[in-house]
Amino acid sequence: MECVFCKIIAGEIPSYRVYEDEGAYAFLDINPIARGHTLVISRAHASKVTELSAQEAAGVALALQKVVRGVERALGPEGLNIFVNQGEVAGQVVPHFHIHVVPRSRGDDVRFVTPTVELSEEEFRELSGAIARAI
Ligand code: 5GP
Ligand code: ZN
Repeated sequence: MECVFCKIIAGEIPSYRVYEDEGAYAFLDINPIARGHTLVISRAHASKVTELSAQEAAGVALALQKVVRGVERALGPEGLNIFVNQGEVAGQVVPHFHIHVVPRSRGDDVRFVTPTVELSEEEFRELSGAIARAI
């Protein structure tokens, strides 16, 4: 077992745990973007959300809501960013599915700077159709 997050779940690598249940485990990110930056991970090893079973994915979503509620109650952030990096190109470093929960406050220095792409009406129509047909 080479996966660092599987080792954390197994207790082979220490972590600041905040929650666990049969489907998920949550702990503080060791290199936090903000105070309280928490990772919610699937207990099952899979790098992508689509590699989880429906039940496993649902379990992580339920744990996410509990963790977010806990972060809100404990730290009272003004807002949160909740996100997943999937694939190396998207910034995923640890290939074990995890959801970042990052507390935000007005005036913090966290920035998600992204360009936007311009799409024609036809492109919006084609894209929505292609995705909808593939679901
Ligand atoms: P990714 O870039 O894959 O979406 O995020 C991986 C996250 O895992 C990073 O924010 C990184 O700080 C965190 N991380 C990597 N290794 C460890 C570790 O051993 N312990 C903890 N608590 N966090 C880790
Ligand atoms: Zn793993």
